[in-house]
Formats: sequence, C-alpha cells, structure tokens
Amino acid sequence: MTGSPTDTPEHHSDASTGEVSPGRSLNFIEQIVEDDLANQIHEGRVHTRFPPEPNGYLHIGHAKSICLNFGLADTYGGQTNLRFDDTNPVTEDTEYVDSIKADVRWLGFDWENEFYASDYFDTLYAFAETLIQKGLAYVDDSTAEEIAVQKGNPSEPGQESPYRNRSVEENLELFRQMRAGAFGDGAKVLRAKVDMASPNMHFRDPIIYRIKHAHHHRTGDAWCIYPMYDFAHGQSDSIEKITHSICTLEFIPHRPLYDWFIEKLAIFPSKQYEMARLNLTYTVMSKRKLLQLVHEGHVTGWDDPRMPTISGLRRRGYTPESIREFCERIGVAKRENMIDVGLLEFCIREELNRTTDRVMAVLDENPIRLVITNYPDGQTETMHIENNPEDPSSGAREVPFSREVYVERDDFMEIPPKKYFRLAPGQMVRLKGAYIVRCDEVVKDADGTVTQLNCTYIPESRSGSDTSGINVKGTIHWVSVAHAKEAEVRLYDRLFQVEDPSSEEGNFKEYINPNSLQVIRAKVEPNLGQRQIGDRVQFIRKGYFAVDQDSTADLLVFNRTVTLKDSWKK
Ligand code: ATP
Ligand code: MG
Repeated sequence: MTGSPTDTPEHHSDASTGEVSPGRSLNFIEQIVEDDLANQIHEGRVHTRFPPEPNGYLHIGHAKSICLNFGLADTYGGQTNLRFDDTNPVTEDTEYVDSIKADVRWLGFDWENEFYASDYFDTLYAFAETLIQKGLAYVDDSTAEEIAVQKGNPSEPGQESPYRNRSVEENLELFRQMRAGAFGDGAKVLRAKVDMASPNMHFRDPIIYRIKHAHHHRTGDAWCIYPMYDFAHGQSDSIEKITHSICTLEFIPHRPLYDWFIEKLAIFPSKQYEMARLNLTYTVMSKRKLLQLVHEGHVTGWDDPRMPTISGLRRRGYTPESIREFCERIGVAKRENMIDVGLLEFCIREELNRTTDRVMAVLDENPIRLVITNYPDGQTETMHIENNPEDPSSGAREVPFSREVYVERDDFMEIPPKKYFRLAPGQMVRLKGAYIVRCDEVVKDADGTVTQLNCTYIPESRSGSDTSGINVKGTIHWVSVAHAKEAEVRLYDRLFQVEDPSSEEGNFKEYINPNSLQVIRAKVEPNLGQRQIGDRVQFIRKGYFAVDQDSTADLLVFNRTVTLKDSWKK
C-alpha cells in the first residue's frame, strides 16, 4: 500500500493538547492503552520509553517511534524515558548519544529520565546468575557454528548442546570466570535453557551473554562480557517499570522470550507491542545502510540534506511540526507498508506555504540582464512587496529597484509559442511588485547567446498605484543588478532512483541517483543577507529554501527544501 496526500484521512496533529486529535479514531496501541487504563492494569499508569541504540543518527523512522511513545505519555498523562540501548560496545559512541538527544529535543519532546542499558549491567549480571541458580541457564563452550547447527531449522527439533547439563555450581563458576576475563572472545557463551524443540527459533536456548574484550563508551573496561539484546531489552523495560514497550514487527517472534525472562525472574511485567516500521519510497532507512552512505562518501555526512536522518531533514529545511504532522498522518499500523515520500514533502510544503516570506531569487548561473532604457540612470526606487499573501500579519518588505535587473533565462523566448506570457520581443510583462516593461531589443554575444534585453517601462504601472490601464498576463521575478547578493543554491533530488532500493537485486548503492544534487549560482534580493542559518523562505515561482550552515558573509548558501508542486505525481 502506498500512502499519498490524497488517500490519507484528514488528521490534525496537535502535540500539546493532551488528547488524541479530534476527528480520528484511536490507533490500535492507543486502544490497548485505554483498555489497560479502564482495567486498572499497572494502577492506571502509562510509562513508555524510546530506546535507540547509539550506533548512528536518528532517522525519520525513529521519529515515528518517538512521536508514538512520547505522544502516548502526553495523551494519557504518563511518562517517557529516553533509554540508550548500549549493550554492544563495538558500534556505539558518545557522538551518537549527543546527536540523539539533540534530535529528540528538536522534534519537540522531553524525556522523564535519561537511562542507559549499561547502567543495568550489574543488575543484568545478577539476573543471569539467578537463572543459572534456577537451572535455567548454562555456560556453553560450543562455537558459534556448532550452536547454529544445534539450533537447526524450524521444521525439525534442534539438538541439545553437550554442555547443556552442566551443574549449577559448574555454571556459576564458569560464568564468574567469564566475567573475570579468564577466556577469550567467543570461547564461551551463556545460554538460557529453554526448549531446543520449540518451533520458535528464539526459544532454542538463546545466547544471553557473550565474551567481548572491548572498550565501552560508558563502562570503559569494567566488563568483558555483554548481555545480548533479548536479555537486556525486556529486563531494562522491567527495571524501569515500563508499562507499554513498543517495538517494530520483527520483534514479534522475540515476544515469548521477552515474557519468559520476566516470568522466570519474577520481575515487573512490562509488555511488548509491535507496530509496522516506517518505510519510505526512494529511501533507505536502516542505520547500517545510512552508515555506509556516510562512510563511503556517497553523501557529505549524517546531516547531508538528502539523508532521511532528522539532522539531514533539519538542514534541508524541514520543521519539527511538519515531521510530527507526517507521523500523525501515517498513523500506526500492524502490517508492513510503504509510505510515499511525497507525503512527507506534502507536509512541509503545506507548512511553508503558510509560514514563509515570498522573496525573489534568479536561479541562473548566467542570468539575462534586463535594461530599462527609459528609467533614469543611477536612480533607485524602493518597492514594497507583500511577504506572504497567505498571512496578512506578515507585512511587506522593501526591495530596491533600478535601471538594470536580472531575470531568468527561462522567462524569455525569442520566438514564443502561443500563450507564452513572459518576455519576448515586443511583448509586455510585469516585473513582480514593480512596473510593466516591454521588450524592445534583444542583445546577443558573438555566440548568439542572449545577454541583454533592452526594455522600456510604463511609469504609470507601478504596483499598488497602477493607472496605466494596461493588463498583462505574465508576472516574473527579478533582482536589481546593483543590489543583488550572490548565492549558491543546492537543488536536491531523490537520493535513490528506484522506489524501494533495499528490495532490488544487488546492492542498494547501485540505485543511487547520480543527479541527486545540483549546485547552481544565483542572484538574490539584498535583504536575504540578514537571514540566519536555518531560516526558510519561498523563492517565488521556484520552491522553498532554507539557509544552509555553509553560508558566509560573502556567499549565502540555500538548500532547496521542496519544490512548489509535487513534480513527481504519476
Ligand atoms: P535501524 O534498523 O535503522 O538500525 P533500529 O531498530 O536498529 O533501526 P534502534 O536505535 O534500535 O534502531 O531503534 C530505536 C527505536 O526506534 C526502536 O524502538 C525501533 O523499533 C524504532 N525504530 C527504528 N526504526 C524504525 C522505523 N523505520 N519505523 C518505526 N520505528 C523504528
Ligand atoms: Mg536496533
């Protein structure tokens, strides 16, 4: 199924009202929460968590999880923990921790507690000893390959490890030696003793601790054994007394194990619920793949504006509101689906239409110079141009006008077709917010390229006080040559050429769009020089743009956030 702006129900996000948005029904997780509240499960408490592994930057898929988890707490008067799931020492880094915190805050959410799964290493270790003492875990000397063979396949029972029936004493002794560093990486593992014949492969004596002599970003060298995901996640939820632990559908087969550990350890009964992960067309979402794009230089970094990361979207010009609106519109489903990236673009376009000033920029490496031959040389007039017709409170700004202005090459045709209402020999057009001009003469260079248009203007046609009685059909934008500021404009297109790069044959990187970035020079209105990094504007007739952090005093840099219309509509 593909969601598009037209086939989604009208949802209105409102992150702060403390209610589900009016006009939409509850999603299945909200329904579960309401039922639990009605039945006084967990004494009517709602406590969620957002549990990123700090091994990369957050992406738009994480935003879905963030909006859901924080949104539930907000709606039902609950709390949300930010928990770093940092049980894998090799891939994790404090750079990622910092970026994740910044991104969650930027999205507009604040957490009740900041926790780290690594804070629970002592408790988790004690849980493991408890299982050993109950005869429910054993140290296994089998190699990874041997364990894989023992597990077999779902259609027939697996084989028991020869180490499965070690005594409690021996297991305890060996596990303590593992912890003390007596063995090398991979020499031994601790396995839960569950059921080697279960049709659920996760039940076939899963590994719960492994030896890894590696430095951890928080615990340093204190540990050389680390808990596996299944042994850390549910127990961390339980330690924090999380009531509703939401994850993605791949974890459905892990749920029985999640419940098994909680039951055998007799600890707080957190419950796991699974929703569909967000998949977007023309996008890869897994951190592993995004990491490759960054490390192999296919993009300039995690915050490259073509990346689906929160930091990339922010740099591209997306707002937190537009991302929350998108998450509200996609809803929460129980089945995998693929969302049209056009819906994300729709959300930001709608917002920027309401909120941005319309300004003029001539996006042309080599624009045409329009010379108004009957306009006094050296004179400058100040035009007052409405900032945003969608927002009467936005006022107007002053734009200098003079005898020579830049116009887009695309706004002139020497031999125009019928119904071409822009510049052509003998044809009249309005310069936006200024005067009507008529093109009298075309000047070309030696190669025959048009360089200049000599025009005359109608002095009575000034916008706002037009008494000329002349009606023209075309209005074009312009920038005064004497006042123009230089800018670099980065035009982005989709990073991938196919709808679902991850499902195509071969490597997803074969489907990278070689033309995903086009960098051009532009002439922009002088007052854009006062804009700050991150400010957003509409370049009239061109699209929505945001000021990039690479801007300098001499050169403004703009990122195209989104085009004015969906140019990808089928
Ligand atoms: P990735 O596959 O991109 O590495 P992950 O699930 O390994 O994602 P985590 O840092 O473990 O990344 O995820 C933190 C939380 O965000 C988890 O609860 C996870 O379910 C959720 N999440 C991750 N990706 C998505 C997605 N595409 N859609 C919805 N939720 C997601
Ligand atoms: Mg993960």
